Amino acid sequence: MHKGKIGVTTENIFPIIKKFLYSDHEIFLRELISNAVDATQKLKTLASVGDFSDELGDLNIMVSVDKSAGTITISDKGVGMTADEIEKYINQIAFSGAEEFLEKYKNQTNAIIGHFGLGFYSSFMVSDKVEIITKSFKEGTKAVHWTCDGTPDYDIEEVERAERGTDIILHINEDSKEFLDDFKVEGLLKKYCRYLPIPIAFGTEKEWKDGKEIDTQKAKIINDVNPLWTRKPVDLKDEDYQKFYHDLYPAAEEPLFNIHLNVDYPFNLTGVLYFPRIKTNFDIQKNKIQLYCNQVYVTDSVEGIVPEFLTLLHGVIDSPDIPLNVSRSYLQSDSNVKKISSHISKKVADRLQEIFKNDRAQFEKKWDDLKLFITYGMITDEKFYERAEKFSLFKNVDDKYFTFEEYEKLIKENQTDKNKTLIYLYTNNKEEQHSYIETAQNKGYDVLMMDGQLDPHLINSLESKLKDSRFVRVDSDVVEKLIVKEDRKEVSLPLEEQNDIRSVFEGSLPEKSHYWVSFEELGETSNPVIITQSEFMRRMKDMAAMNPAAGFYGSMPDSLNLVVNVSHPLVKSIIEKKDKKLGSKLEGFNNQIKPAQAKSEKLKKTTKDKKAEEIPQADKDALAEVEKEINKLNDEKKALLKEYGKDNKLVKQLIDLALLSNNMLKGEELSRFVKRSVELIKP
Ligand code: ADP
Ligand code: MG
Repeated sequence: MHKGKIGVTTENIFPIIKKFLYSDHEIFLRELISNAVDATQKLKTLASVGDFSDELGDLNIMVSVDKSAGTITISDKGVGMTADEIEKYINQIAFSGAEEFLEKYKNQTNAIIGHFGLGFYSSFMVSDKVEIITKSFKEGTKAVHWTCDGTPDYDIEEVERAERGTDIILHINEDSKEFLDDFKVEGLLKKYCRYLPIPIAFGTEKEWKDGKEIDTQKAKIINDVNPLWTRKPVDLKDEDYQKFYHDLYPAAEEPLFNIHLNVDYPFNLTGVLYFPRIKTNFDIQKNKIQLYCNQVYVTDSVEGIVPEFLTLLHGVIDSPDIPLNVSRSYLQSDSNVKKISSHISKKVADRLQEIFKNDRAQFEKKWDDLKLFITYGMITDEKFYERAEKFSLFKNVDDKYFTFEEYEKLIKENQTDKNKTLIYLYTNNKEEQHSYIETAQNKGYDVLMMDGQLDPHLINSLESKLKDSRFVRVDSDVVEKLIVKEDRKEVSLPLEEQNDIRSVFEGSLPEKSHYWVSFEELGETSNPVIITQSEFMRRMKDMAAMNPAAGFYGSMPDSLNLVVNVSHPLVKSIIEKKDKKLGSKLEGFNNQIKPAQAKSEKLKKTTKDKKAEEIPQADKDALAEVEKEINKLNDEKKALLKEYGKDNKLVKQLIDLALLSNNMLKGEELSRFVKRSVELIKP
């Protein structure tokens, strides 16, 4: 028996290990089993090159829990260790500046364990005492028994042991009793060891026989040593990919497509990615991709390794070349990792391109589900955009699909405005904007369906990418002005008349709303009143809503346009009736306003070229007075018109109809509208 001190500079590393690695205690099992796998694979390699010529035998790794003894044992039949090797690999931990490092990386268990090669010592997170019983494969070496109770002191002695290999025995500490539960351990093995390349046995197979569950005494292997991604695509069928998908995500729906990654230059990477079927936004989940390192599960947080937009995919990536034991920020700047990321992005684009080319019908059928991923990629990854613009599709309101190029051809003729800008009309809600869509279609325009949650962003990036093109929502203006093909003539209604009618309509507009009443000649068959919201204002508001810091536009109320079609007979009759009813009163106002305006004009003229201090005080006072008078008269006139508009059932009805066709008439206003409509229908 020999005693010694573990070679660490700090007095006692164990409390530190326990303290800082608290969050991820469970990874001790992964670390010990990885070591067992490494030892077993080393032996297989030695055998394959002829440096080991004995019988390999059964190489299964065994995990067992002894509840009454309070131990977990991990046994392998790998290379084992000699006493010298224990001294070298276990007792000497290069460990300088440990405390600072631990402080810095205290939230990154992987970094700490990897940095110091602390894999084996992670067992002390859950153990009071750890024993190693091991016998090297090398001929003539003695088996050794190493024991350490969590202080830097260890014992080592020679023991008798016939078979080659290593047993690691963990005496589980008081705080970690949960790991003595078979279900817990099995769960951890399933999580971390499911695809390890050496069979891992835990417990025995159970079988149902005559309505009873019986123990078959056969070791239960919990892992698949040849997971799908390690096999050659030519040997695999669609069913294999689907089965593997369901192994990974038992509750998920059939995936849309899969992509088998297989790279060996300039880095090693294998894996299978799936495009999941997404039914609702709730299904969108990042971090469903599992990252493996030589079939050892590492993490399901792959940000920085796969391109941002592909974190929405599902599947597995396995690469021995991704430096797993360093911090995330380092990872993101690592050039190898960057290469991996852009390679994956390229592979995904290639695969989509291939499906598009070989089976467009199928591609179109799946487009609605695929669109989110592709759009996300296009707006966040320049390179991906360049590839995707060849297969990305537009869908119009009639559910027809077009490539960007096809769509441009389709609308070029009819939807180019007088400034040679190509106008893409779109809707984000077929139901709510139905009347606008219909009007646009009647004019021979095509309307795109842009109801995806990322479409506002896509529109922005398309406008910067597609030459001389603009996207305009169908309800952002009257159809004549959506695509302006020639200079439009002024509305014939005199300005003064427009102001009067504006006041009449304002009198009937919903309270607390901000409408600008404007006038157009849209012909007798168009609607008498139409509500629009300018593309610009709406986008400003939408953007502000997404970014609360934008302030100004976000706090602005919706600003909408109420377009009055002065060529419509109903509007004409409103004008006539107003003249009939208020004509003499309005004339009275005008008779006062006109001379006042003339006087104001004259005063302004005489003082036009003078500096402020040269104007006599009397003139200044006179001007101020006459201006005040004009304002007062105008206000009174406006009030009269508004009052008239307020009680005008026809005006109110036309406004409500416009609101209704925008799905904006709600609550009390809607009830009143229904009531008023019934009254207006004469038997
Ligand atoms: P790492 O695995 O990163 O080298 P560990 O702390 O996990 O660091 O292990 C240290 C070393 O101890 C291993 O490199 C290996 O040489 C030796 N070792 C650990 N477990 C075993 C085992 N089961 N069989 C043989 N050697 C082992
Ligand atoms: Mg290790």
